[in-house]
Amino acid sequence: MLERIMEHNKKFVEERKQKGEDKPISAHAHADVMVFTCMDTRLVDLLEPAMGFKRGDIKILKNAGNMIRKDCDDVIRSMFIGTVVMGLKEVYVVGHKDCGMAKQTPEAIKEKMLARGLSREIVDSIDIAEWAGLICNEEQNVRDVVARVKASEYIPKDVAVHGLIMDPNTGEIEVL
Ligand SMILES: [Zn+2]
Repeated sequence: MLERIMEHNKKFVEERKQKGEDKPISAHAHADVMVFTCMDTRLVDLLEPAMGFKRGDIKILKNAGNMIRKDCDDVIRSMFIGTVVMGLKEVYVVGHKDCGMAKQTPEAIKEKMLARGLSREIVDSIDIAEWAGLICNEEQNVRDVVARVKASEYIPKDVAVHGLIMDPNTGEIEVL
């Protein structure tokens, strides 16, 4: 795969140069927006056009299940950088229907951990559902994450925080 990527990249860079697309653009998000969504493969090349955003418009954060765990503040850290340090005015938490993180069970993950050679001490030392960030319901998770962002002492109160849910097939978005 790496060879294929590097081969493709050479052609890609050359084509962009020929089309004049290689000129620098501002690193500031032109739309003053940060989007936090799931790492689901179906959202790649779907979410941004579905929201009307293109390259340069937004900062985008992704993780498994667009989840902010209680004891994990790394998403908040990036939102803090985006809003306080970079001055972004809006945060969109975009969940999606049919999320893989709503289908996993702690038992199945435990089996996979052991099958892949992770130590039993580690497996037994964590609450798997909490640690892995399993969700019961995609809509409720978005609402919980929005509430967590709004409640965070690191995010300014004048930042608008919205919760959305997307259909990963049609690209349709609903406001929650
Ligand atoms: Zn997902």
